Amino acid sequence: MPAMAKKSRSPFLRILSRLLAPGRGEVRALEEAMHLQGVLRFVAVIAATIVGPSLVLAYFAVHAISVEELAAEDELSRTAEGVAQGFWRQVEADFSAFEESTLTRLEAGRSPLERARELHPLILVALRFDADGVLLAPFTLSASTDYPKSYLFHPDVRSAAALMQTDPAAAAQQFGQLTRQPLPPAVQARAKLDQALVLEMLGRQQDALIQLDSLILGASDLRDSWGFRIGDLARLQQGEIRMRLEQERGIASLRELLNDLLEKPWTVGQGSEAAVANQALSMLEPHEEQEWVTRVRGQIAERNEMLYWTGELLDEIRHIPDSRKASSPAGELWWHEGERSMWAITRWGGGSYTFGLDRQELITQLKAAARASTHPTAPIEASLIAPDELPPEHTLAIRSLDPWLANWSVVTTLRDPAAIAAENAQKRTQRIAIIGFAIAMMGVGAVLSARLISRELDVVRMKTDFAANVSHELRSPITQIRLKAESLILGLAETPDEIEEHYNIVLRESERLSRLVDNILDYAAIERGSKQYILRIGNIAETVERAIESVRSTLELKDIELILDVPYDLPPVHHDTDAITQCIVNLVSNAAKYSPGGSQVRLHGRVVEGVELTISDEGIGIAAHDLRKIFDPFYRSRDSLARRQKGTGIGLTITRYIIEAHGGSISVQSRPGKGSTFTLHFPDEPPPPPARGTI
Ligand code: ADP
Repeated sequence: MPAMAKKSRSPFLRILSRLLAPGRGEVRALEEAMHLQGVLRFVAVIAATIVGPSLVLAYFAVHAISVEELAAEDELSRTAEGVAQGFWRQVEADFSAFEESTLTRLEAGRSPLERARELHPLILVALRFDADGVLLAPFTLSASTDYPKSYLFHPDVRSAAALMQTDPAAAAQQFGQLTRQPLPPAVQARAKLDQALVLEMLGRQQDALIQLDSLILGASDLRDSWGFRIGDLARLQQGEIRMRLEQERGIASLRELLNDLLEKPWTVGQGSEAAVANQALSMLEPHEEQEWVTRVRGQIAERNEMLYWTGELLDEIRHIPDSRKASSPAGELWWHEGERSMWAITRWGGGSYTFGLDRQELITQLKAAARASTHPTAPIEASLIAPDELPPEHTLAIRSLDPWLANWSVVTTLRDPAAIAAENAQKRTQRIAIIGFAIAMMGVGAVLSARLISRELDVVRMKTDFAANVSHELRSPITQIRLKAESLILGLAETPDEIEEHYNIVLRESERLSRLVDNILDYAAIERGSKQYILRIGNIAETVERAIESVRSTLELKDIELILDVPYDLPPVHHDTDAITQCIVNLVSNAAKYSPGGSQVRLHGRVVEGVELTISDEGIGIAAHDLRKIFDPFYRSRDSLARRQKGTGIGLTITRYIIEAHGGSISVQSRPGKGSTFTLHFPDEPPPPPARGTI
C-alpha cells in the first residue's frame, strides 16, 4: 500500500473530536469537530472584524458623550464667568465715571459740591472737610445762636414787639431805647432790625435803609433767637425796600444776597439760610428770567435736601474711618459702606471731599442690573449677594464687587438646574440608544452572517457527505452483483431456489444501481438546466404500476406489504411517464427504506382539483425541524434512525423538481415514530412549456 500523507490535525481539533466521539463514532465526531472549528473560526473573524471594533467604537462614543457633557459644563462655567465679569465691569464703568468726573472737576478748580448729582445721580450729600475732619462746606455744624433765649422774655423786648402792630411809632421808640441799653449785641441787633421794620411801616424808608446799612456793616454774622443771621435778614429787608424805591438797585442787592448765601456754608440742623434764600428768590422771580429762577430754585432745593440728609446721616459721617485718607492718591475715590449710605471719599487740597450715596437705592439698582445682565431665556442668571449671604446652590461663578461694595458679590447660577439635568439625561439616553441600536444592528449582522456561513458550511459538508454516500451506494450493489454473478458462473449456487435467489439479488441490486445512477444523472442534468420532460396525456394508474414493478423486489426483501388503491378510472393526467415513475419509485423506496420490516405502505389515488397521489408508510417519521429541509439538495436527516439507512439526499430534491415541472406540487406530513405521508398533486391543466421546475 503506498504511503499516504496524513494531514496533521490541530490539537484543538483532536481534543474536540475526542470530546464529540462518544455516541457519534470517530468519523462523525471528526466531521462535527471540523464543522465546529469552522464556525468558531468564523466567530473569531466576526469578533475581530465586527464585534471588537464595534465595542471599541461604542466605548469611545460613550466616552465622547461624557467629554461633550464636560465641555458643555465648562462652556457654561465660562459663560457664567463672563457674565459675572461683565457685570463687574458695568459697575466699574459706573463708579469710574463718577471718579473721573470728580477728578476732572477738582483739577479744573471747580468744586464737586455744586450740582453734585451731576457726578452721580444717587448722591444724597456732598461735603468738604478740612485736614482735621471739620466740616467746611457746603454746610457747617456751628449752629449756635448768639441770642440768649432768656431775652426773648425781657419785658422791654416783649412790650416793643407787642406795640409793633398797634402803635408802630411807640414801638420804634421802644426799640430805639433797647438799642441804647447794655444788652447782648445780638439782642441789640435784633432790636435795630425790628426798629428798621417799624420805620418802614411808618413810611420812613430812608431811615430804615440807614438803620439796615449799619446792621449789615456792624452785626452781619450775629444770629437771632431763631438762628437767622441778622446780616441776611437786614439785606433781605433792604432789598425789599429798595425794590419799591429804585427797583434796579433792589434787584441787584437781592441777587447779591442770594449769591452770597449760596456760597456760604449753611448750618446743619437749621433752615434759616434756605428760608432767606427762598424769600429773596420769590421777590426776584417776577423780574428775572424764568430759566435763571428755575436754576437757582433747583440749587436751593438740592442744597436744602442735602442739608436734610447731612443732618440725618451725621452719625454715619462721624464714623467714617479716615485711615485711608492719607494713603489714597489725591482725587481717587475710596469707598466705605455705611448703614444707610455708601460713602465715597477723596483727598484734595489738604482736606477731603465726602459723597454719600443712597445705599438702598444703589443696591436695588445693582440687583435689577444683575437680573437684566442675562436674557430671561438664558440657562444662567446673575444676582447680587449681600455680605452675610451664602452663595446659592448651583453657583457657577462668583465675583466680589470690591473695591466699591467690598463685601457684596455678583453670582451666576443655573436658572433651572433640573431642566438642564433633564435635557442632559435625555441627550445621553438618545445617544446611548443610537449607539445601542448601531451595536445591535452589527450584532444582528454578525448573527446573520454566522447563520449564512453556517449554512454554507452545512452545504459543503452535505456535498462531502454526498460524495462519500454515492461511492458507498455504488460500491454495495456492484459488490453484490459481482458476487452473485461469480457464484452463478462458478456454479456455487446449486439448487434451483438458490439460483433463483442469486438472480433475484442481481436483479434487485441492478435496479437499485440503476435508480441511483438515474437519480445522479437527473440531478446533474437538472442542475445544468438541461433536463426536459415530455408531457403526454396518460393514465396515472398505469405509471404507478410501472413504478411498483421496479421496486417490488425491494419491498419483498423487507417483507413490506404494499396496499395499492389507485383507481384505473382516475382522470388522465399530463405527465412524463419516465419522470413520474422515477418520482413514485423514489417515494415508495424511501417509504420502504425508512420503515421496519413487515409494515405497510399505502399508495392511494383520488381526484382533488386534478389528481392526488399519496404514499404513506408506518416508518420512523420525520422530525418537525427536518420537514422544511428534506427537499433541499443533499439534505439528510440527522436523526440516528434515519442515518442508519444509506442514501444520497437528492431523491426528494429530484422528485420535487419533477412534480413542479409538471405544474404540480409535493407536500409531506409526518409524525416521528408513526410514519409519513407524501402527497403528489397533478393539476388539471398541464403547465405552459418548457416544463421545468427549479431546484
Ligand atoms: P435519501 O437518499 O437520504 O433518502 P432523500 O432526498 O430521498 O434522500 O430523502 C431526504 C431525507 O428525508 C432522508 O435522508 C430522510 O431522512 C428523509 N425521508 C425521506 N422519506 C422518508 C420517509 N418515508 N420516512 C422517513 N424519513 C424520510
